[in-house]
Amino acid sequence: MFKIIYENGARVGVLKAHGISVETPVFLPVATKGVIKTLLPEEAWREGARIIIVNALHLYMHSFETVTKYGLHDFMKWKGIIFTDSGGFQSIKKFPARVSDEGIIFKKDGSEEIFTPEKSIEVQKALGSDFIFMLDDCPSYPYGRKRVIKSVERTIKWAKLSQGERNFAILQGGIYEDLRLKCIEEIKKLNFFGYAIGGLSIGEPKEKMHHMVAITTKNLPKEKPRHLMGVGSPEDIIEAVKNGVDIFDSAFPTRNARHGTIYTSRGKINLKKAKGSVIDEECDCYTCRNFSLDYLSYLYREKEMLAMRLATIHNIRYMNRLMERIREEIRNDGNLDKLKTEFGI
Ligand SMILES: [Zn+2]
Repeated sequence: MFKIIYENGARVGVLKAHGISVETPVFLPVATKGVIKTLLPEEAWREGARIIIVNALHLYMHSFETVTKYGLHDFMKWKGIIFTDSGGFQSIKKFPARVSDEGIIFKKDGSEEIFTPEKSIEVQKALGSDFIFMLDDCPSYPYGRKRVIKSVERTIKWAKLSQGERNFAILQGGIYEDLRLKCIEEIKKLNFFGYAIGGLSIGEPKEKMHHMVAITTKNLPKEKPRHLMGVGSPEDIIEAVKNGVDIFDSAFPTRNARHGTIYTSRGKINLKKAKGSVIDEECDCYTCRNFSLDYLSYLYREKEMLAMRLATIHNIRYMNRLMERIREEIRNDGNLDKLKTEFGI
C-alpha cells in the first residue's frame, strides 16, 4: 500500500509491505547479490535502512533453486522490504547477453536462454520479492534516437505482459521529451502499483536528467509511488525530490565507501589522506560514535576490511539522515536547498 500524507510539489508518503511502514522519500541501498556488501543485515537496519533492492537476474543465474527454497527474506535474513530489479540492464553490461524484441538473451550453464518479460515476473515472484520491477529495454548511453525509439516500443510491449498489483512499470525514452511522454501515455493505461523512471543517470548531462524527471512526474498519476532508478548522489536526490520523486536506489554510497570516500556534513572525505579525531560531528552512526577519523583512515590505508565496513555503515546512515531531513523539510514547507549546506553537498 502507498499513501501520500503531505504534498507541496515534493511529497511525503508511506509505503507499507512485509508488515512494516516506511516513510518516503526513501533511499534504498543496493544489495545486488542478496547482500549489502560488507554489512550484516542488522547493521543496515540499525543505521535506518528499511528497504533494499536486489538483482533478480543475478540470483536467477547463480543460485535460484536454493534461494527459492528459503525465500529471499529468510535466505538473507532481511526483515525489511525487498524490491527486486529485473536486472536486464546491469546484466547486459556485465555478462555476454543481448537484447531482442522478445527479451534478454544470455547463457546459463552453457546453454542459451531467453529472459522474457513474463519469465522475469515469474522469477521475482518465486524469489519472494515484495515489489517487482518489469523487464525493460534500457539502451546504454550514448545512444541515437533510433535506438531509443526501439527501447520505448519494446518497453511498452513488455509492460503489457508485466502488469500486477505489486509491480512497478519502468519508463524509458532517453533524453527525448516526446519519447518519454509517449512511453508514459501508453504505460499509464495499464495496471501497475507504481512507476520507475529508468534510463537516466547513465552518463547523460545532469540538466537533461532533471528535465526528464520533471516532465515525467508532471504526467504521472499523483497517488502512485515514483521510483528514480540508479540515483544517486545527494544533490541529484534533492533535485528529484523537488520534482515529486518518492524512492531512490543507488550503489553510490556503498561503492564509494569501499573505495575510501565518505560523505559528511563538512563535505566528502578521502580516507587515503584524511586526518582528525572526528569523522562527522553531525552523524550518530556506529562508526562515528566509536571511532576516530584517524583510525578509520589508518585502516583504509592498511587495506583492512574493517575500513570498508565502517565506511559503508557511515555512508548508509548519512543517506538515511539526509532522507529524514528531506521529509522533515517537506512537512514544514521548508527549503530543501538549505540541506545542501547542512550535508556538505
Ligand atoms: Zn557516521
